[in-house]
Amino acid sequence: MSTVVTPDLTSVSNETVRTINHWINGKAVAGTSGRTSDVYNPATGRVQAKVALANRAEMDMAVDAAVAAFPGWAAQPPLRRARVLFRFRELFEQHLDKFAELITSEHGKVLSDAKGEATRGLEVVEFATGIPHLLKGEFSEQVGTDIDSWSMRQPLGVVAGITPFNFPAMVPMWMFPVALACGNCFILKPSERDPSASLLIAELLKKAGLPDGVFSVVHGDKEAVDLILEHPSIQAVSFVGSTPIAEYVYRTGTANGKRVQALGGAKNHMIVMPDADLDQAADALVGAAYGSAGERCMAISVAVAVTNATADALIEKLTPRIAKLLVADGTNPAAELGPLVTGIHLEKVRGYVELGAKEGAELLVDGRDAALPRGDGFFLGACLFDHVKPEMRIYKEEIFGPVLGIVRARDFETALELINDHEFGNGTAIFTRDGDTARTFVHKVKVGMVGVNVPIPVPMAFHSFGGWKRSLFGDHAMHGPEGVRFYTRIKTVTARWPTGIRVGVDTSMPTLG
Ligand code: NAD
Repeated sequence: MSTVVTPDLTSVSNETVRTINHWINGKAVAGTSGRTSDVYNPATGRVQAKVALANRAEMDMAVDAAVAAFPGWAAQPPLRRARVLFRFRELFEQHLDKFAELITSEHGKVLSDAKGEATRGLEVVEFATGIPHLLKGEFSEQVGTDIDSWSMRQPLGVVAGITPFNFPAMVPMWMFPVALACGNCFILKPSERDPSASLLIAELLKKAGLPDGVFSVVHGDKEAVDLILEHPSIQAVSFVGSTPIAEYVYRTGTANGKRVQALGGAKNHMIVMPDADLDQAADALVGAAYGSAGERCMAISVAVAVTNATADALIEKLTPRIAKLLVADGTNPAAELGPLVTGIHLEKVRGYVELGAKEGAELLVDGRDAALPRGDGFFLGACLFDHVKPEMRIYKEEIFGPVLGIVRARDFETALELINDHEFGNGTAIFTRDGDTARTFVHKVKVGMVGVNVPIPVPMAFHSFGGWKRSLFGDHAMHGPEGVRFYTRIKTVTARWPTGIRVGVDTSMPTLG
């Protein structure tokens, strides 16, 4: 029989299949839809919990609570809202190990990586604590005679976030700290594959003094997403996930009059120039391609080696490094690659490895033959393809697993053109010692986040995160100044003081004259 528990981690057990609840209006709320989804431990392949999937009643409950809480929260001086985030920051840091443990148990990534994602999320909280400064408007004195003008940013109301499985703590934290700091109420619909980190976040926000209803977690699948997209009281939606769903969320949400930012998939290229430090490039590639088992939207999945000689030399450096990677349960402190998130995803990635070989790419390292942990976990070793061509599906499509393809390019221009012609434009990098080439790359590449001798150029919290092309639908990237703009709307005031001046009736358009 399923048991209903609070989000307290101490109740996690592989023996009893528990049900993971929603968090609405400051407390755990059991699902009433009768629908649940399995949550696996990817390292064992076993179902460790079931998560409730919301219906309209639960979504309405969360939205009603948020609508009721909004006027009070929005009326708080920004500094008071920041103080709640300061307290949350302290609590989050105290629970860092707990977050890592939760993430690893449901996502599979290794503990150090899980801690890293939580830490990167925390940086957005730190950014958002500066909200009194970030919300300062602009003021112009004497725009006309005795007339001053200023602009201010005000919160939108109730906003929602829909997040993917691959960063169950960090991606929600790209969104809600800024949204809350700006004075909005936030409803989070996390991935149903690893839902528990969001509940610990909710618990800690409450402990930090966030009023009930300001932050709720509603678990669910497409039904919950559609309820968000249609709900008349939800003003804006932030989405992160795969491109087809991002596009659907953007089109449906905007058709319903909402502000939407929807971040999608990726195929991130790293150019390796002949003059690059190849040891540095090989180290970077192994970390960026295989870290988190390749389940990162900023993972490098294509290495573009400029000249055949560079490709050959790079492969010589990559293969021994790959052979040394330890694929193991993420709780093993020595593990470098954990399992993939689900059995279905593992089969999809294995399918791409098979496809690549059929398409004519040369499979230099086959992770299916790697030394993998025994049992039913969803493990796959690192895979390396050479001679990948732009017309192959393994080049065009996002695989989202530990699979790196090498494309050989004759020169820098060809390499740059490849990237600019690709459907996605999330992240990219170049490894070179040449300043001219690096600068040309930065200037001309059609990608949102660019690294120079940095393989995963994820912007810090005080800059903004977002790709180009079909990696982002909408006008705003996440967190940083773009996040503040997304979660607020601008109001501009023009005021005349003193009032004693008589200007008389004038029906023409006011101008300075
Ligand atoms: P996904 O698109 O399957 O799911 C994302 C969210 O959408 C989840 O909350 C899910 O419940 C919901 N969803 C799934 N199917 C839906 C449907 N048919 N209708 C409505 N909602 C639906 O993505 P995922 O597998 O959880 O995450 C991996 C993807 O996310 C990859 O493509 C990765 O590149 C992308 N991602 C992008 C970024 C970025 O910043 N651009 C960051 C992280 C992940």
